Amino acid sequence: MTKNLSEERIKSARKAHVCNWCNEPIEVGTSYVRQRNVDGNDAWTVRLHPECDEAFGTLDHFEQEESMVYGQTYTRGCTCEYGDVFCDRTERCLGGAQ
Ligand SMILES: [Zn+2]
Ligand SMILES: [Zn+2]
Repeated sequence: MTKNLSEERIKSARKAHVCNWCNEPIEVGTSYVRQRNVDGNDAWTVRLHPECDEAFGTLDHFEQEESMVYGQTYTRGCTCEYGDVFCDRTERCLGGAQ
């Protein structure tokens, strides 16, 4: 089972990263959330845009774990899968574009 060891808000990225949630760039100088997770002998770091971390936080624990296992790409700041035309919760969701 995945355990979240720490979560910290980085105020200003020193290097460019890619958001693990939406696959969009986290640019140098912008803020992001860094999570350290561990599962047995595996440890890894997840980096998320603040709005993606918020979306992630709305999932229950089981869904959070599943979302990491399958490595899906989600819409930035939303919990829908990237390209989901039936979601219109944020302006980035495909269903909200029309
Ligand atoms: Zn993101
Ligand atoms: Zn959405």
